[in-house]
Amino acid sequence: MTSLLEVKNLEVSFRNGKDVFTGVSDVTFHVNKGEILCIVGESGSGKSITTLSVMGLLGKNGAVENGSILFDGVELFGKSEKELDNIRGSKIAMIFQDALTSLNPVFTIGNQMLEAILSHSKLSKKEAEEKAKYLLGKVGLSDTEALLKKYPHTLSGGMRQRVMIAMALAGEPKLLIADEPTTALDVTIQAQIMELLKDLNKELDMSVILITHDMGVVAEMADRVLVMYAGEVVEEAPVNVLFHSPGHPYTKALLRSIP
Ligand code: ADP
Ligand code: MG
Repeated sequence: MTSLLEVKNLEVSFRNGKDVFTGVSDVTFHVNKGEILCIVGESGSGKSITTLSVMGLLGKNGAVENGSILFDGVELFGKSEKELDNIRGSKIAMIFQDALTSLNPVFTIGNQMLEAILSHSKLSKKEAEEKAKYLLGKVGLSDTEALLKKYPHTLSGGMRQRVMIAMALAGEPKLLIADEPTTALDVTIQAQIMELLKDLNKELDMSVILITHDMGVVAEMADRVLVMYAGEVVEEAPVNVLFHSPGHPYTKALLRSIP
């Protein structure tokens, strides 16, 4: 199997005046083409920082100090903002926990879908509308014509997350990063969104990094698992290996906590 993403010796720090805080250090892992890699680890262990680094979205006080981020054969570390924009805007997409804060409340779903689509292609408005409806259908939403005219707050949490996934698909990404995408949703809706991510992974051959703290989700979804603890990777293994012979004490504790 070939890797789509190879992160090596990643070190990220944050500056606050004279204080420097190391967010993650020596993080090394890879994502194979077409696979789902789950990242687990307790709150504050560096899961989000690791994936935000790949997206170049650390914010102004955060920086990648060291390491290499090879995406589809291209080194991202050290690239200009403009070059990164091209890559992260289309080939890598990301969705977050709270779809309501990711969507702009004053614009319709249609406005935001069209903006996402037109930022990746030179389609006419009419063609972009067709594509918007197609993508909304792809993520399991119906009555897409009416949906385009709606505002984000009028949708349920599950529908909003589906819309975010549809927008993420606009650039036909090779990698989708989902950072705890269902934490804010009801349990039954969580399962449906996970099912959708799995279907899209298979159908589109799109690699997925799924950050979750739910080991049940890991068992369902993951091809391989990365376990993070205190800003470091403590384990990287195929899911069945991890469940049957966990190597690190934290992983063992995690597995014992499964009801
Ligand atoms: P996780 O996603 O695993 O819960 P994060 O990757 O968000 O953890 O954070 C890892 C560590 O880095 C935490 O200690 C967090 O407080 C710190 N951190 C995250 N973002 C920032 C930031 N913008 N400035 C300073 N510290 C940060
Ligand atoms: Mg996080």
